[in-house]
Amino acid sequence: MHAMILLGGPGSGKGTAAEMIRKSTDYVHISTGDMLRAAITDGSPIGREAEKYIADGELVPDDVIVRIVDERLDEGGKGDAYIFDGFPRTLSQAELLDRSFEARDGNIRHVFYLKAPNDVLIMRLTGRRICRTCGANYHIVNVPPKQKGVCDVCGGELYRRADDEESTIGHRLDVYEDQTRDLIAYYEKRGVLVPVEASTTPKATMDVIMVTLEACES
Ligand code: AMP
Repeated sequence: MHAMILLGGPGSGKGTAAEMIRKSTDYVHISTGDMLRAAITDGSPIGREAEKYIADGELVPDDVIVRIVDERLDEGGKGDAYIFDGFPRTLSQAELLDRSFEARDGNIRHVFYLKAPNDVLIMRLTGRRICRTCGANYHIVNVPPKQKGVCDVCGGELYRRADDEESTIGHRLDVYEDQTRDLIAYYEKRGVLVPVEASTTPKATMDVIMVTLEACES
């Protein structure tokens, strides 16, 4: 079992890159944000616990996050290869992930650090729209749907995440910067950190990631 981690601020394109990689490889995409939003929609106990933190732009407690990640890892996947998107977010989550992987004889091969300036992140977050039915991502300027408010893939309704409101975004960016500084140093020291310029197009980000993955496999 092995994994890559996508690190980067909200709006850095982790979800988009993860989906592009998933479609062209055997990697399973694990997004803690998506899993938490699904739990909220289902009204499950985890969803009820997480809801308040997400609405305030705060991090959900580590024990909740590690529980959902472990449950997902136990389900397995095709190639037993995973892309973590939005996890780990803190040094303590990274240490818990290490323990989880040690117990499963796994290793973390790459940590891609998607870097983009805050003004780019803010522009992407305020324009982001998501399909309520299939989860496809759009941007009102960069990736507009053919018909306003309607998903091209499934015809579902597009919505704006509550935590993508201007009032929450600033706080989310602060929380991100605060929590990930140590995380970046942690993976840098281990020699697995790969910085990726992520302020241009999803394809450019994806190309850098794929070159690294292919170099590792050859
Ligand atoms: P995201 O979709 O990754 O932007 O996550 C949305 C929100 O879900 C975050 O602002 C947090 O409240 C929560 N969340 C997602 N992943 C984590 C995580 N690994 N640790 C703590 N909270 C998380």
